[in-house]
Amino acid sequence: MKPAPFDYIAPSSVEEAIEALQAAEEGKVLAGGQSLVPLMSLRLARPTLVVDINRIQGLESVAVHDGVLRLGAMVRHRRVAADPGIVASAPLLAYAARFVGHPAIRNRGTLGGSIAHADPASELAAALLALGGSVVARGPGGERAIAVADLFHGYFMTALDVDEVLTEVRVPARRPGEGYAFAEFAPRNGDFAVVAVAASVLRREEQGAAVRLVGAGLGGMPVDLSAAGDPALGERELTPPVLRSIAERVGSMVEPTGDIHATAEDRRELAQLLTARALREAWHRTAGD
Ligand SMILES: Cc1cc2nc3c(=O)[nH]c(=O)nc-3n(C[C@H](O)[C@H](O)[C@H](O)COP(=O)(O)OP(=O)(O)OC[C@H]3O[C@@H](n4cnc5c(N)ncnc54)[C@H](O)[C@@H]3O)c2cc1C
Repeated sequence: MKPAPFDYIAPSSVEEAIEALQAAEEGKVLAGGQSLVPLMSLRLARPTLVVDINRIQGLESVAVHDGVLRLGAMVRHRRVAADPGIVASAPLLAYAARFVGHPAIRNRGTLGGSIAHADPASELAAALLALGGSVVARGPGGERAIAVADLFHGYFMTALDVDEVLTEVRVPARRPGEGYAFAEFAPRNGDFAVVAVAASVLRREEQGAAVRLVGAGLGGMPVDLSAAGDPALGERELTPPVLRSIAERVGSMVEPTGDIHATAEDRRELAQLLTARALREAWHRTAGD
């Protein structure tokens, strides 16, 4: 099938892109095109204007300022997975990016596109929520920062306005004593996750480990499961009984629904298994400092 007719522009600045989006009957930003183009081809999306942001300079930068990693929205998944600066400052994001699709998808798909698209199985969205990240959106009224915790509203829905361009993603850079892991179940390598878990553990001598956990594929958006990590408080080691107790709590917190890929009960079990696996790995990685 071919897309419905549409107009196309490739502006050279974010301001021009915003103006075009404002004026359009139904405008859509085109980044890597790995989600938008298939949707248009299936006529599930019918924008009247496609605003291609690939020629805008400055949206592919990567820098650390004051302990915060700033990634331009057009940084491709391939770079997120392998750039030494990103791997050092946000290893969880890099681990998660390795699970996104196939090499061809990772070569074109962008960090900003993945977040704006808001697929509930998105690995990058889950990782960003676990990291306490935020995004910067620019629109007719100027620029605003949105915490990732406030960004997702449900299946493919975000707090972004139709005439806003997501320009930057920000995550706190890794601190000593922090370990991260990402665990996923997908039917085949490169498929979307049925369930995935992003885990972050901070090793603390006195108070015990601080755990952050986020699940994907367990509802319409990434689910913050960090409250399940309370049994780690006061513990100097994430021992098998502590891991089991956290995984059990995850099982009672999640409310997945079944679909053609997995039953609700399968998803619950996967969430528990992947939680234990990701936390064990993240804990081992805290020992590197
Ligand atoms: C075969 C296949 C397998 C895939 N597997 C996975 C997978 O396992 N995991 C996964 O997470 N994803 C997967 N994807 C999707 C892929 O990660 C996409 O790259 C991503 O979802 C969208 O990024 P994009 O840059 O291609 O955005 P586009 O397709 O260009 O845009 C997607 C949506 O976001 C909007 N948008 C894009 N950029 C911006 C911006 N800067 N500001 C405002 N709005 C914006 C667009 O208007 C559009 O609505 C897969 C895709 C394919 C085709």
